[in-house]
Amino acid sequence: MSESVLNLNSSLESLKGVGPNKYKLLQEAGLSTVADLLDNWPRKYVDYSKLSLIKDISPGLVTLKVRITNIKARWAKGRAIHLTEAIAEDEKGDRIPVIWFNQPYRMNSFKSDCLYYISGEFKANSGKLNLTNPTVEEVKELDQINTARIVPIYSEKKNLNSRLVRSLVLQLRDVLTQIAETLPLEVLEKYKLISRKDAIWQLHVPESNVSLEMAKKRLAFEEILTLQLAVQKNRQFIQKLSAPKIQFDLNKTQELIKSLGYKLTDDQRRVSWQILQDLEKSEPMNRMLMGDVGSGKTVVAAIAAIQAIRSAKQVVVLAPTEVLARQHYISFKTLLEPLSAKVELLVGSIKSQDKKSILENIEKGQAELIVGTHAVLQEKVRFKNLALVIVDEQHRFGVNQRKELQKRVGEGQFPHLLTMTATPIPRSLALILYGELDQSIIKSKPPGRIKIVSELIPGASRQRVWNKMGEELKAGHAVIIVCPAITDTDASSRVSAEKIFEEVSRKAISKQYGAGLLHGKLKPIEKEQIMTDFANGRTNILVSTTVIEVGIDIPRATLIVIEGAEYFGLAQLHQLRGRVGRSSLPSYCYLVPANNDGIPARLRYFADNSDGFKLAQYDLDMRGPGQIYGKLQSGALDLRLFDINDPELIKQARQAAKDIINSNLKLTKELKSNIKKHQDLEYLN
Ligand code: ADP
Ligand code: MG
Repeated sequence: MSESVLNLNSSLESLKGVGPNKYKLLQEAGLSTVADLLDNWPRKYVDYSKLSLIKDISPGLVTLKVRITNIKARWAKGRAIHLTEAIAEDEKGDRIPVIWFNQPYRMNSFKSDCLYYISGEFKANSGKLNLTNPTVEEVKELDQINTARIVPIYSEKKNLNSRLVRSLVLQLRDVLTQIAETLPLEVLEKYKLISRKDAIWQLHVPESNVSLEMAKKRLAFEEILTLQLAVQKNRQFIQKLSAPKIQFDLNKTQELIKSLGYKLTDDQRRVSWQILQDLEKSEPMNRMLMGDVGSGKTVVAAIAAIQAIRSAKQVVVLAPTEVLARQHYISFKTLLEPLSAKVELLVGSIKSQDKKSILENIEKGQAELIVGTHAVLQEKVRFKNLALVIVDEQHRFGVNQRKELQKRVGEGQFPHLLTMTATPIPRSLALILYGELDQSIIKSKPPGRIKIVSELIPGASRQRVWNKMGEELKAGHAVIIVCPAITDTDASSRVSAEKIFEEVSRKAISKQYGAGLLHGKLKPIEKEQIMTDFANGRTNILVSTTVIEVGIDIPRATLIVIEGAEYFGLAQLHQLRGRVGRSSLPSYCYLVPANNDGIPARLRYFADNSDGFKLAQYDLDMRGPGQIYGKLQSGALDLRLFDINDPELIKQARQAAKDIINSNLKLTKELKSNIKKHQDLEYLN
């Protein structure tokens, strides 16, 4: 088969060196066509491009051009380790020892008259300096694949190794011309960006570090630009709609504030004021309220809600889980019913007879504040005059949900929207994801809160956990144990809620203080019972999966034990830790890793830091935005190269997006369709 017929849709079977077995391997890794292969970007690189002479080398990564002689093999440490030793000699006649561990095939893999590039680490082994486990490749006339260049490392999923991918990619040079340009020419010129096809080639086959950087910059620029255009278009959609103006009612607000058993913090006042000002406008509010767990967002939401209710309008509060919806229902009822507002709960488990009358009340406007899960938007709910929607614990209230909402409020209308979250997003990223979305931040917590003491407990010291549990229970407090899984599905070391519950049940504390098991597979009514028992103090130990995660407010819970802590993201851990420390009682968070081989650095960082913003920034720096935000929705946000710490690039891409919006510049078909894809993402507001 001649290479000229290759195109982007060609099957990888048409490449040299791909037989049925390799093709299967590629397919299993999700790569079937040439386009797939080009779209499989390297994860990182090792720079083996600099060739050294033996006389010049110092410890570290090196690449040499040598002959290999004196090859010997032997066993060491009682046949525990196999060693292949040889001598590498370069063109100047200098020599160094080379050693491979447990690679016995090396013994017969060298020809005596042949030149090789060897790349690897020059370091000390049992006191002697040698080149350890080098990669070897015959010196070729044209492209080197695995040595003597900047070598791309691909993600090695499903046994597909980087060597194969590299050798295949090198066959694609002629297909490159078929890669379409996505960015308008004007943008490429203005921001001095290289073409998409060159960028993709340099990413796979970098000529130099400079060209690699240019490739990354170009592709990252495109990622941000696409996002920005999507965000700005979504925003335009909302700005065209109009919302009911809601007047500020000083008397009712004062009445509400006076009824609280505490004074609002300065931050609570400030953000309430920002929200109240938005509500008075006819442009729909689109505001995100960020505040750490326990910072007191609920009362701020209630202040906003009472304004709408006073103007004879309806408010919806959406929570991600039923447990949380029920809790909000109680909070809002407690806060607002004394001001004679009518609060209703609408969740899946309500009996259909009751549901019917609730729906009627909503339609007639007799229910003024409706608390529910997102199911509320799916149900056949008809509002009389919905004016404010409050979404708790979720960044994601995307275009589709907005459209759903829109159907319920009439042509051209839209309610004011307040999203609340305890998972802070670093400012740099918020700017990218949400553009000009208005943010209100509660920085300081209400006074009197005590810092939660976080500790890492290696599995071996588990007795400490039991002791501490005993102490807290004896003092009349409650304990939560969170596990990463419901059941142990395989031999992996994940710790399941069922197993831990069994263990707890065998202990005396369980009989004395009562224990419950909560997880997502229970029926809503069972969950409800278990939560109520725990809230009332009928049980004082709750073993749970992350259903407990968001918002649960049990002030006498003072110890949370997180089993298999390494299986949770930092944001999630932070949420979980926020389940305790909700009163003035000293509280504790014990992190117990499931694996005993070393505690990951990020867990240490977590234990040492309690500021949600700092944790979010750390997570972002360590894993990158694509990892964290790309997985929120399947097939989502493709942020592969965008580096959050490149403010100059972000600035440029944002500027380019503005230019495009203002100038009606003609966009390429590809860019348009990418923007469209992003626009549908849930979490772009
Ligand atoms: P979150 O921001 O996590 O939703 P909540 O609204 O549930 O926080 O508030 C946590 C707790 O703090 C609640 O019990 C609430 O009554 C209390 N609270 C809120 N604001 C204040 C304040 N200004 N002073 C004292 N306690 C407050
Ligand atoms: Mg809350």
